[in-house]
Amino acid sequence: MNAHPPLQERALAALSSAMPADLFLTDTDAMERYSRDWSGDHYARPLIVARPRSTAELSSLMKCCHEQQIHVVPQGGLTGLVGAAVPSYPGGELVVSLERMNKVRSVNAIDFAIVVEAGCILEDAKRQAETADCILPITFGAQGTCRIGGNVSTNAGGFNVLRYGMTRDLVLGLEVVLADGRVWDGLRTLRKDNRGYDLKQLFIGSEGTLGIVTAAALKIFPMPDKVETALVGLRSVEDAMQLYARARRECSDLLSAFELLLRGGIEIALNARDDLRDPLDQPYPVYVLIETSAAGRVDLRALLEGFLADASDLVLDGVIASSKAQADRLWLLREMMVEAQGRGGRYLRTDVSVSISSLASFVTDTLEALAERHPEAIAVTYGHVGDGNIHMNIVPPENMSANRFDELFHATEEVIFDMIDKHGGSISAEHGIGRVKQAAFLKRADPLTLELSRRIKDAFDPSHLLSEGRILERVEAGAGE
Ligand SMILES: Cc1cc2nc3c(=O)[nH]c(=O)nc-3n(C[C@H](O)[C@H](O)[C@H](O)COP(=O)(O)OP(=O)(O)OC[C@H]3O[C@@H](n4cnc5c(N)ncnc54)[C@H](O)[C@@H]3O)c2cc1C
Repeated sequence: MNAHPPLQERALAALSSAMPADLFLTDTDAMERYSRDWSGDHYARPLIVARPRSTAELSSLMKCCHEQQIHVVPQGGLTGLVGAAVPSYPGGELVVSLERMNKVRSVNAIDFAIVVEAGCILEDAKRQAETADCILPITFGAQGTCRIGGNVSTNAGGFNVLRYGMTRDLVLGLEVVLADGRVWDGLRTLRKDNRGYDLKQLFIGSEGTLGIVTAAALKIFPMPDKVETALVGLRSVEDAMQLYARARRECSDLLSAFELLLRGGIEIALNARDDLRDPLDQPYPVYVLIETSAAGRVDLRALLEGFLADASDLVLDGVIASSKAQADRLWLLREMMVEAQGRGGRYLRTDVSVSISSLASFVTDTLEALAERHPEAIAVTYGHVGDGNIHMNIVPPENMSANRFDELFHATEEVIFDMIDKHGGSISAEHGIGRVKQAAFLKRADPLTLELSRRIKDAFDPSHLLSEGRILERVEAGAGE
């Protein structure tokens, strides 16, 4: 047990007089796993970690923190990657981990809705939906770790956005504890509700800066009993986007994923695992992983086979998975690519978007600019292109010094973001702004957007105690600085 530093001691004394002691972790070792995010790039020790068991307990805690002017940051599964969920300076912020509020409160196959607590791991919520023969369609690589509160607060997307929408499209209602401890109860499963301002929309994607989500009611859908997966090789990103436009029309809108993978990413995946094989007989510059899914009387296999045969002017070669195991192997290539990039250490992650019709020119122009200005940078390009969302990551060449990589990191990010500006896109399509993208966001946001955003923050958290310094700049120096 470490001796409590004075600030922690004072905060703990004030909080534990009103709250049960087993709510808190204060030991440096016990707090370690709440100090670092999935990437390991962001690290800071919390002032205290609080792990409430109920909305009422969190509400009392937040009232105390408000009275004591203690800064708070909510934490889910720590997969957000923009430095938003870890403390923003060592020993100065109390972390609220929602991990003990992890129940599924109800699944209703007539409302097609699931009500789930914020600390529930996404994969567990998906499993519960399956017990009612339904699908909760938020699907991506981190689903075994990220939590529902984090998904709501980052407006998470994933592989199935083109079919079912982002988290924002799936939220029917929310329960939220505000910075002063009051509970905003908007936890409904109503499909239609036009009573005044739709306040829940403000909490979605607000990265914990306006309130702490304690539960969410989410849409679920009939479970597709047929899924077909194909991987095809193509000449160019331009051809991939042509194929996408045709697939939307010709596959009766049953497309549920359309993932772009450039050859460099496939090679990273193949090098990472000996048991992975090149999926087609010869390498192609561009690949697309296509998934269609449906329930009911559709011959999905014939649909996909017919579609790909008719697209032989674009598709150079391809494979349709003949079993679930083979489909899983195709998806493994996509997953390994993401995992393997980080094996050599730090790398630049971007999660940008442009309109779908601009995606091919954005990728071509950016890769050309990177090759010309920074030929040493290894660009790894992939994404959920069915919704215009692309990752253009930069892996450093072997043996590059940390200092040199820092320079390359900033210079290549600038090239990518400048190109995003030229194509009218967004510098954050997935992970949010947090602290990592704050400077780039503030530089680009128009003054009226910033003024309105600051007023919203002031209305919900006038003392600026909640996730201060994320998205918007820090207003007030907090305790501990
Ligand atoms: C391998 C990998 C793949 C990914 N793929 C995708 C993808 O395809 N699409 C995508 O959108 N994202 C993706 N992400 C990003 C990430 O998984 C999502 O942003 C996810 O929604 C974050 O959830 P979390 O529980 O880990 O949140 P955390 O990282 O813990 O927190 C994220 C933000 O939400 C806030 N927060 C957390 N819980 C609450 C709460 N209860 N109330 C209020 N605020 C809260 C935090 O303070 C922080 O600002 C990926 C990440 C990884 C590591």
